[in-house]
Amino acid sequence: MSFFRRQAVLIVPTTLFLLAATLPAQQLPEAVPAPSAAYQQMYDRLLETINAIPIFDNHGHPGFADDPNVDAMTSPPELSTPLRLRDDNPELIAASKALFGYPYDDHSPEHLQWLVKKKAALRQEQQGYQYFDTILDRLNIEKAVANRVVLGPYLSPKRFLWVFFVDSLLFPFDNHAVIARNGDLAVYVPMQEKKLHSELAQESLQQLPATFDDYLQFATRLVKHNQKNGGVGIKFEIGYFRSLNFGDPSKQMAEAVYEKYRSGGIPSETEYRDFQDYLFRYLISEAGRLHLPVQIHTAVGVGDYYSVSNSTALNLENVLRDPRYGSTTFVLLHGGYPFQEQSIWLTARKNVYLDSSLMGLYLYPADFKNVLRHWLLLYPDKIVFGSDAFPFNEAVGAEESYWIAVRSARIALAAALTEMILNHEVTEQQAVTFAHAYLHDNAVKLYSN
Ligand SMILES: [Zn+2]
Repeated sequence: MSFFRRQAVLIVPTTLFLLAATLPAQQLPEAVPAPSAAYQQMYDRLLETINAIPIFDNHGHPGFADDPNVDAMTSPPELSTPLRLRDDNPELIAASKALFGYPYDDHSPEHLQWLVKKKAALRQEQQGYQYFDTILDRLNIEKAVANRVVLGPYLSPKRFLWVFFVDSLLFPFDNHAVIARNGDLAVYVPMQEKKLHSELAQESLQQLPATFDDYLQFATRLVKHNQKNGGVGIKFEIGYFRSLNFGDPSKQMAEAVYEKYRSGGIPSETEYRDFQDYLFRYLISEAGRLHLPVQIHTAVGVGDYYSVSNSTALNLENVLRDPRYGSTTFVLLHGGYPFQEQSIWLTARKNVYLDSSLMGLYLYPADFKNVLRHWLLLYPDKIVFGSDAFPFNEAVGAEESYWIAVRSARIALAAALTEMILNHEVTEQQAVTFAHAYLHDNAVKLYSN
C-alpha cells in the first residue's frame, strides 16, 4: 500500500542542506552554520559517485493511474496527509519539469492537462515496455520491485520484479464484523474478499475448500502459481487490518475456526485472530521453503483509523527471532517508521532486512540523512533502498514519485556519508561500499537467496 492519496498531487528536495550548499555564504540564514570547504568538497565528490550507482528499488507500485492492478488497496475516505505529500508541494513541479519538460510553474488544472497530453503522446510513441524502461533509465534505476496485483502488460519482467499480495488468504470468512469496525476497513476488506474470490476461481474452485488442509493446499498452490508467473516475493499489508503481534495457536485451533465458519456465520474477533495467526505463520514458512522473501508493511499508514502502535515492526519480534523461520527472508518495509531507530536492531538476525521506502518521501533529505546515518553505523549490510513510487493521478504519476524518491535518497545518502567520513567513523572507501550496498548490492543479495 502506498502512502499517497491517489487523487492528490504531490511533492522536491529543497532542504536546508541544499540551501546551504547552493546559496552564497552571505545569504545563509544565520542559524545555519556555513558548511566547511572540506564538507562541501567531500559531499560533492560523494554525490557524483552516488549518482552513478545503478539503483535496485526494493519496493514500489509502478503503473498508470487508470490501472486497477497497481495496488490491492486504495485510499480510505478520511485521511490527513502529511505536509510533503500535499497537493501544493512544489517538488512535484520540479519532477515533471525534469522528466517531461513541464513548462509551467504551478499546478493549475489547465496546466496539468499539458502533462496529461504529453504523457499520452509518449505512451503512443514508446510502445510496450519502452515507456517505463525509459523512466528507469533516466533515473539510473537498474531494476525495481513492482508490488502489484499482477505485473501488467507494459512493465518489462527484465526490469520489474513482481512481488504479490497474500493478505486476501487471511479473510475467507464472513467479514461483516470486521468491516463494521471503521471506515478504513469498510474500504479495504471488500477488496480482499473480491481478490480471494478471483484467486479461488484461478485455482478452479467455486467455493472455499471442504477441509482446512485443502485450504492450506490451495494457499500453497496459489503462491507457487504466482511464483511460476514471475513472482519473486510475497507481501503482507496486514498492518492495515490488525496488529502485527501474531500469536502461536495450534493447527487444531485454526482448523476448528475454519470448519465452523467455512460455510457461513461470523467469527468472533478472537476466533478470526487465531485463524489469521496460524495462516500468517503457515505462509511465511511456505515462503521460506519456496525461497520467496516476505515483505511486510511495518510503519505508519494512510487512513485516520490506522493504528501506528499495532503496526510497529517490534510487534513482529517473536516471529522474526523464532528459529522455525530461520530460512525465511524478511524485508520490513518503510523501515518501521516512526520506530526506525529501534527497528534496525531487528536486522541483527541474519534473515531480516530493513527497507527505506516511503520514509524517504515523508522525510525531507535533511531528516532522512539522520535515519540513514543511524542505520549505516549499525547494520550497513542489512538496509535496502525503496521508492514506494505510486501514481497519484492521471497527470502526476509513478514517474514523478520515482524521481523524488531517488533524488532524495541520493542526496540524503551523500550527506550522511560525508558526516561519517569527516567524523572519522568510516573511511571514504568504506563509505562508497556502503552506498553501493544500500542502493543496490544488499537488495540483489536478498533476492538471490
Ligand atoms: Zn507501498
